[in-house]
Amino acid sequence: MLYNQILVRFGDLTLKGKNQKEFLRRLYELMALKMKGLNVTIENTHDRIYIHLNDVPADEVVKRLEYVSGISSYSFVVQCSNELKEIKTTALELMKEIANKDTTFKVETRRANKNYPLHSMEVTKQVAGYVLANHNLLHVDVHHPEVTLHLELKGNYCYLYNTEVRAMGGYPVGVAGKGLLMLSGGIDSPVAGYLAMKQGVEVECIHFESTPLTSIESAQKVIDLVKIMARYAPKNKINLHMVPFKELHMALLENVPESYNITIMRRMMYRIASKLAEKKDCLCIINGESVGQVASQTLRSMNTINSVTTIPVLRPLCTYDKLDIIAISKKMECYDISIKPFEDCCTVYVPKAPATAPRVEKCESFEKTFDYETMVNDAVEHTNSITIDVDSDIDLSMLGLEVREVIAELKK
Ligand code: ATP
Ligand code: MG
Repeated sequence: MLYNQILVRFGDLTLKGKNQKEFLRRLYELMALKMKGLNVTIENTHDRIYIHLNDVPADEVVKRLEYVSGISSYSFVVQCSNELKEIKTTALELMKEIANKDTTFKVETRRANKNYPLHSMEVTKQVAGYVLANHNLLHVDVHHPEVTLHLELKGNYCYLYNTEVRAMGGYPVGVAGKGLLMLSGGIDSPVAGYLAMKQGVEVECIHFESTPLTSIESAQKVIDLVKIMARYAPKNKINLHMVPFKELHMALLENVPESYNITIMRRMMYRIASKLAEKKDCLCIINGESVGQVASQTLRSMNTINSVTTIPVLRPLCTYDKLDIIAISKKMECYDISIKPFEDCCTVYVPKAPATAPRVEKCESFEKTFDYETMVNDAVEHTNSITIDVDSDIDLSMLGLEVREVIAELKK
């Protein structure tokens, strides 16, 4: 292919002054990190970024661009000098590559270089005329062309391109501060994490594990999911906090009426997450809750559960359709892991008739029957934290889980 660069556009130019500078710095850093190991050159200008391919296959670069939040779109471009003669021959060469005899086309010129001796219309006319005369089976159609050949005159160069692909959008991850993502092994929470990162929020993850009440494979699922999510993270890594939840889980099963079990379990999760968020400088909790999917996610339940904390809780999926969530999960390559059928702590011992309108006073009176505060503090204190990067190969025993035999079993 003739293309020798990728032109990267970033979205929100409503950002001003210091914010915009910080946005660009982060975006550049993020892009450089994701391109590491590829022999490309990244050129930063005030309103866009050019990736010089240096013969690296464009596919490989594009795959990595998918992990960069803050990019609104990109185009494959050919850069040539701004001499009209060269623009004409490059345009012809490109059109020969991408168009056939029946293709209709038009040329559009943008002149950022205001000192350029010709007006945009004149450049368009001359280049289109040249292409038409020398690739004589092409047809011009200025209203509904199949190919629009864009010419951008900038500085001493002309950039030619014919496609614009939408990218992840949002803001460079990290510009909005850090949040604590409640990560289960399911479909929703990794997608919630993705959307938060897309919006600029760096995430740390918290998982409540109740092994051996729940299967060790569900803990492994969480690790595998974090590893994938780390592709989007600054520095390609994410901290995972594994909270030993078994004691609390047992206490709930023993002391709380079945219909209130999930509500109170989730109040405990929120209490622990809030304490950990404070410890780790996370400014919010993020989770995969969605309005109305299950009993614990009715608005009334959310009120009762949420009342144990004052930290903001972001629910990026709260208005999402399940099919849209699944589409994102597949795009992230999390789906196949998420649907593996191992139980996490919300899927075991599911009460037959969970309360859909649980009351705070009732929760408080059930919670008085056992010393949950000590257990919450213990869980926070004994949380195992580990950093997972995109290439890590984590052994569950590093997380302090009593799993040596299980791992041996899995490796057989
Ligand atoms: P998911 O697909 O993310 O599991 P879900 O639709 O199954 O979500 P629930 O199981 O009710 O819903 O959980 C709602 C949210 O609570 C999850 O999206 C996740 O953010 C959090 N959560 C549930 N279980 C755990 C857990 N064991 N550890 C950490 N977070 C959890
Ligand atoms: Mg779940």
